Amino acid sequence: MSEQLRLFFVAPELLDADEGAVVAMPEPLQRHVLAVLRLADGARIELRDERARSRVAEVVHGGSEPSLRLGPVRLLERPSGQFIVLVPALIKPKRWAWLLQKATELGADVIAPVESARCVVRWGDDPKKSERSRKILEEAARQSEGHAPPKFLAPVSLEHRVTELAASGAQLVVACPGDDSPLLRVVDGERSVAVFTGPEGGFTDAEVNWLIGQGVRPVQLGPRILRAETAPIAALAALRLRA
Ligand code: SAM
Repeated sequence: MSEQLRLFFVAPELLDADEGAVVAMPEPLQRHVLAVLRLADGARIELRDERARSRVAEVVHGGSEPSLRLGPVRLLERPSGQFIVLVPALIKPKRWAWLLQKATELGADVIAPVESARCVVRWGDDPKKSERSRKILEEAARQSEGHAPPKFLAPVSLEHRVTELAASGAQLVVACPGDDSPLLRVVDGERSVAVFTGPEGGFTDAEVNWLIGQGVRPVQLGPRILRAETAPIAALAALRLRA
């Protein structure tokens, strides 16, 4: 039976060093490994990054700072399928955490939130909020033994997000209750897709009209009104299960 190691997601730079190299343990990992888990000198952990690389590493306590001795690189199989970006409007914290967990389980590639007119929650420029979301994603990825967690982008305005995603060449769709076009009829499964979903009170008519004017296609997710945290997950599940 293979050894069950504690799994940590790290920035790709940490995994660039040669086999056998001893590298400094970055701060968030240090806290978890040393203060929370109290792993001993020589304990083995697994590190993974967003490029689907995995390395076993040994905790090294001696020396000037806590470090890791890196084992060989193993390339993980990337789950195949469509590249899916979720673009949810910000919602209340508990629902937000649920959304992030389920999006990780179902294999969203990127979560790129927006702040829209009816958002009751606003983050402004607070980087701690994005950090908290990344932690939730990492924990969810660990729980589901998935590959790297979805990439998380800090929230921006609708305008900013549309410009950025349009440049990526992805198909852009906005979930609109009551629209005539079902999601799976509009989205081409061969190309990457970004799905915009509104906050608790929905997008305003002006926002929806503006999005449509920018070439974002409206889609429906069935005949019932879904809650703001359910809609992105329903869209993701539908897209993933079609593959
Ligand atoms: N009264 C709001 C409205 O009509 O937009 C309801 C908002 S709903 C709670 C939150 C978001 O979920 C919506 O803005 C939309 O993006 C998405 N949504 C919910 N149910 C949907 C459905 N059946 N089809 C498409 N999108 C849906």
